[in-house]
Amino acid sequence: MTLRLSHLIGGDARPARDGAWLEVRDPATGQVFAHCPDGGADDVAEAVAAAEAAFPAWSALPAPERAAWLNRLADALESRLEDFARAESRDAGKPLALARSLDIPRAASNLRFFAAAATQFASESHAAPGAIHYTLRQPLGVVACISPWNLPLYLLTWKIAPALAAGNCVVGKPSEVTPVTAWMLGELAREIGFPPGVLNIVHGRGPSVGEPLVAHPRVKAVSFTGSTAVGLRLGEACARTLKKVSLELGGKNATLVFADAPRGKLIDTLVRSAFLNSGQICLCGSRLLVERSAYDEVRDALVARARALVVGDPADPATQMGPVVSQAHFDKVMACLARAREEGGRVLCGGEALRPAGHAGGWFIAPTVIEGLGPACRTNTEEIFGPVLTLQAFDTEAEALALANATPYGLAASVWTSDLARAHRVAGALEAGLVWVNTWMNRDLRTPFGGVKQSGLGREGGWEAMRFFTEAKNVTISL
Ligand code: NAD
Repeated sequence: MTLRLSHLIGGDARPARDGAWLEVRDPATGQVFAHCPDGGADDVAEAVAAAEAAFPAWSALPAPERAAWLNRLADALESRLEDFARAESRDAGKPLALARSLDIPRAASNLRFFAAAATQFASESHAAPGAIHYTLRQPLGVVACISPWNLPLYLLTWKIAPALAAGNCVVGKPSEVTPVTAWMLGELAREIGFPPGVLNIVHGRGPSVGEPLVAHPRVKAVSFTGSTAVGLRLGEACARTLKKVSLELGGKNATLVFADAPRGKLIDTLVRSAFLNSGQICLCGSRLLVERSAYDEVRDALVARARALVVGDPADPATQMGPVVSQAHFDKVMACLARAREEGGRVLCGGEALRPAGHAGGWFIAPTVIEGLGPACRTNTEEIFGPVLTLQAFDTEAEALALANATPYGLAASVWTSDLARAHRVAGALEAGLVWVNTWMNRDLRTPFGGVKQSGLGREGGWEAMRFFTEAKNVTISL
């Protein structure tokens, strides 16, 4: 018996129409374990209508009451943390320990953080001789939140929490590759009596659900996280109707290691930043740039650690890395590895599929480190989004910056040095929306999150998200 997921529309659980189900597979075995509705324009229309009907009451609720609903949802999620972590691990193939420590706790934190934000989001006022100007921040109405498969519940809640906190009603569209925890969240919302229609979740593929949702005339804004290719199409669609749009897209992040880098947590962090979640985090450092005098030392330590990573059953507590998410993604990463060899890359470790015992049908790829490739090849300019790290050596700070900035992307970078002045200089010159110094993926939910160049448009996090999900209206009163 496989799980049968349902949409959440107007507070009701709705099955697939006309038997239109999609298979959901366990990446560790390749086996189907759930079916998710492949929704369509009719489901989107109903969800938007339900959201629109719920909007007047939800937006009129005092902010502390909206916050209380978000906190109730976070309470319910935390009380089922283990169930959610197991589901996320199975659906996305990530180690259970990671889902338990990162994905699900962070999803609850997203809800709590924006519950608090709702109560603190204040309007500005400007007193002037003869007049007072004040700026209302009003919710938009119905908004769309579209999320990818790599951090399924974490990224969905990162969008729906600020949208709801600001007083909007939401139609969420999770990835059809990993829909289970979004469905479970919908079930929780029903259980706690979350006001019907305020949060709706429509499952299905991008073309069948995402496109009609983005095109729907009553949807006022679209918050999207996913690939640059889809983000570009979505940006065009939003431009045609002048919808607000926030795009969090792909990355090809550089890690710059200078010879004076503090060594304490360096190698640990480089391994995490390359291989956490099988390299399937938009913030992963996939290009490692090392000052030549430290190159051999860093390369050898890193390769030894990559070889020692335990790859296998996500449910096993000893596992450090699971499979990649799907057959299609496995094929893509394997093709990237073949191309890296054709381009002249030397594979120092990995570079092949793995078949851990009992998981012959799973989509496992060995942690891979490649050297010998220049900055212009496709391996070093295109996103791979798998457990693949390339190494390049540099001689000067200027060369390090040129290498770091030599891709169309600009999401994140990390810089390792003991020289504070250099850290400031390099951070200022990197073409990236986020720069870490002597750390990686150190996140504070108040800070702006997002990329430049082909990595996106707009920022999430803190007040940035609350501003995105509201419209400023200035009122001037003559005194
Ligand atoms: P994707 O672009 O294929 O899909 C993302 C979401 O968009 C899914 O829900 C999908 O069904 C939907 N979608 C697909 N086509 C659509 C269309 N035509 N209209 C509307 N919606 C559509 O991305 P993915 O493969 O799920 O995720 C991996 C990508 O996401 C990587 O490129 C990664 O870098 C990126 N990502 C970026 C961030 C960030 O914060 N910048 C975070 C995580 C992932």
